[in-house]
Amino acid sequence: MSDFTLIYGSMFSGKTTRLIEYYNHSPLSEVEKVAVKPMLDNRYAAHRISSHGGLQLPGHRISKAEELYPICNDQIKEVYIDEVQFLGSTIPDVVLGLLIQGIKVVASGLDRDYLGRPFGEMPRLMKMANNRIQLQAKCHVCGKAAHYTYRHSSSDELVLVGHTDMYESRCKIHWEEGMGHSLPDW
Ligand SMILES: [Zn+2]
Repeated sequence: MSDFTLIYGSMFSGKTTRLIEYYNHSPLSEVEKVAVKPMLDNRYAAHRISSHGGLQLPGHRISKAEELYPICNDQIKEVYIDEVQFLGSTIPDVVLGLLIQGIKVVASGLDRDYLGRPFGEMPRLMKMANNRIQLQAKCHVCGKAAHYTYRHSSSDELVLVGHTDMYESRCKIHWEEGMGHSLPDW
């Protein structure tokens, strides 16, 4: 069984930057490691994984978790997954399959959506990971540590990727102040 590292936090907490750093610091060659991200995220260049800070790496686009299997050929020893919260209900099983094959997995994702709910399969992935890295952003209102994503938009659509101007990272106090209610205990 290989290692599974999960990087998580709110928006603007530097998750993708940290994922790219892990990829770049790995001593493996480009044919032994691969980076993927969900197809629905069409921010920035189509076949690159980019952070808000401008770091980039080449990456595959996948629309569902199972597409990781053919990408992980015999040469691949490490997989890097960005925005893992969007990869659907089968992602924990696919990650487990890769780990059993001896492939190291590093993934980054949003742990909660803007309503404060656990995002997708993140709780299960959290339990599976043997290395969990929680990153924090700065609260848009007070500048203190922020673990929540606040959206100032009237749309109810959950996935509004690319519209980063609609979102702010906020501390619990200012997330609750913005929402007008306390953080639900999901
Ligand atoms: Zn605050």
